[in-house]
Amino acid sequence: MVLSLRTRVAAIGALLIVAVTTLAAATRPAPPRTHWTTGAGTGVPSAGAPDGGDDLASPDPSGPSTRPSAGPASPGKLPAFGPPPVPQPITVPAGPLAPIYHRLPVTQPVAFLTIDDGWFQLPDDLTLMRDAHIPFTMFLIAPVAAKNPGFFKELESAGGVIEDHTISHPSLRGAAYPFQHHEICDGRTSLEHTFGTTLHLFRPPFGNYDQTTLRVVHDCGLQAAFYWSETVNNGVVAYQTADHRIEPGDIILMHFRTTFVRDVTAALIAIHNAGLTPALLENYIA
Ligand SMILES: [Zn+2]
Repeated sequence: MVLSLRTRVAAIGALLIVAVTTLAAATRPAPPRTHWTTGAGTGVPSAGAPDGGDDLASPDPSGPSTRPSAGPASPGKLPAFGPPPVPQPITVPAGPLAPIYHRLPVTQPVAFLTIDDGWFQLPDDLTLMRDAHIPFTMFLIAPVAAKNPGFFKELESAGGVIEDHTISHPSLRGAAYPFQHHEICDGRTSLEHTFGTTLHLFRPPFGNYDQTTLRVVHDCGLQAAFYWSETVNNGVVAYQTADHRIEPGDIILMHFRTTFVRDVTAALIAIHNAGLTPALLENYIA
């Protein structure tokens, strides 16, 4: 087949367009990973977002904020809980790998509230947690927490315990041991220096981890790593299972966002409706 000059020029032009478009797609930065669970109905992470639920390293280009951008939401009436039962901790296996839990294998009627990152630090958050009278765990990004330690110390006095969530909030899966060691061990050391406490637990950013992560967690002297059973976003609990109920031992993930008050309120109502009481994760890891 003999192509006319015009046809050949047109064909070469089309090929060039395809090549340039492909190159542009290959070099274009990946779209932001919000990791906010969108399927409030099921909460099951999709195949494309197996780590669903975690935030960006910084959801706001201007960085951490103490100013509400969405305005405080009315907390409504917080459920009242009796004291949690005397903990019957589980014994974590000895190394060389730390265990990672999506939920704790306990039979006591308890659930665990965990709050990640620390980007937004709003006065209403403090008021709410002082009023809630519940234990909770904060997995904080070390430099973010170090910029406003007073806020998180207030939350410690309200029942919160600070744990490790790395330095720069990277996806650790597939990263080399020295990098993971820096993020996890130095994150721990930094938070301990900032708050004068001893850390025991770790949550991998985005829930992304591998065997190296668990080895490093163990080598850094931390006892266990945690994924989650439910997430809370925009005041809605996203369940991981079809029964839409929080089960004993479930670990609930939420974040320091502008929707903090609504998210905590929704989590506590869900825990209460399930006949459970918030308990402290640290008390269940021996
Ligand atoms: Zn995170």
